[in-house]
Amino acid sequence: MTLDFEKHWEKTFRYAKANSPYYRELFRSSSDMPRLEDVPMVDKKILSERNLEFLSAPRERIAEIVTTSGTTGKPLLWMLTDGDLKRLALNEKLSFECVGLAAHDTVLLAVAMDRCFLAGLAYWQGLRELGCASVRVGPPSATLILEMIDRIQPTAIIAVPSFLRVIAEKAAEAKYDLKNSPIRKTVCIGEPVRDASFNLNTSGRAIEAAWGARAYSTYGVTELANSLCECDAGQGGHLHDAMLHIEIVDDDGKHLPDGVVGEVVATTFGVEAMPVIRYRTGDCAALFRSPCACGRTTPRLGPIVGRKNQKLKFKGASLFPSSLQTVLDEFNGVESYVIVVRMEAELSDSIEVLVQGQVAVEMLREAIQARTKIAPKVRHASREEIEALQMPPQARKRNTFVDLR
Ligand SMILES: [Zn+2]
Repeated sequence: MTLDFEKHWEKTFRYAKANSPYYRELFRSSSDMPRLEDVPMVDKKILSERNLEFLSAPRERIAEIVTTSGTTGKPLLWMLTDGDLKRLALNEKLSFECVGLAAHDTVLLAVAMDRCFLAGLAYWQGLRELGCASVRVGPPSATLILEMIDRIQPTAIIAVPSFLRVIAEKAAEAKYDLKNSPIRKTVCIGEPVRDASFNLNTSGRAIEAAWGARAYSTYGVTELANSLCECDAGQGGHLHDAMLHIEIVDDDGKHLPDGVVGEVVATTFGVEAMPVIRYRTGDCAALFRSPCACGRTTPRLGPIVGRKNQKLKFKGASLFPSSLQTVLDEFNGVESYVIVVRMEAELSDSIEVLVQGQVAVEMLREAIQARTKIAPKVRHASREEIEALQMPPQARKRNTFVDLR
């Protein structure tokens, strides 16, 4: 561990112990500073049950209160001081510099700025810090975005990948040539645009083809008040190691070597309102510490290959639904599909793939086996059967992965 790391960790430990009710209790008996890897990890369940016990600053110093996205359970309340907002702005500035944005850029922010989200605010602050012109167009209307592209001639856009594809479809309908717009960079938030080998996935390729622009992936977590962006090398998001420390661990919490996918565990440095130490994010990815082709020497976090609780176990092997989805997205003739997972035995799930379209089922099964080393059941199904599974009553969004375990 480097001297810088020791300095940041010591400061974080002393601050959390002195100011956070949760950490005051956790570190009650430790007069000496523990090694970071000896501190018990916290997960979303602990954060949600003891949410405000993580608050380490008096309420009069709180400047922003946001909520987490709440994909699992009730959204957490998350608070930031003015100092945290400045840290956030600097973090985002460094991230956007990785993407190659600079003061001369004009950037469309097609992201929600309200509804208690932190992300939109963070991007906006980062653009301000960088000196870019930002256009807070928001996400609701593809038509409005096309109109603004035409009038303002921006050079970059920040949006969710699936929405970038909706805008491209709208442009095609309107016979508007997006490739001729000055937009050269798309910053893709919330969904992956690369697979575990750093190749662009179907979504990333569709965006680059339709927009005539580079797709850059970015990863952020509200509870960490942090985000990472990839550079032109496209070999993972660059970590700002004075603000965040990342460990990659296996199911038993043991450290994994560079390049091996495991759960992302993160510690914030320099946070005033709600510092967290060894937070199990539930996201799975690999970390790379070798210097990047861009010249930066900071660690890089590879693409998020899935959520830890989505990991499939199949006859001694394990994989994430995303690797099956990649094969299905790319296989000729597949019009729609759904992957259904059921509990079969303690160490093995039953995986069934339902496909619709002109598909040679046996060839598809072989393609899946070649790419993922597992051979699930594959069968034809009607569009109605697939849609009923993708979108059960009360579901808020369509899902090609159905977990019945
Ligand atoms: Zn780089």
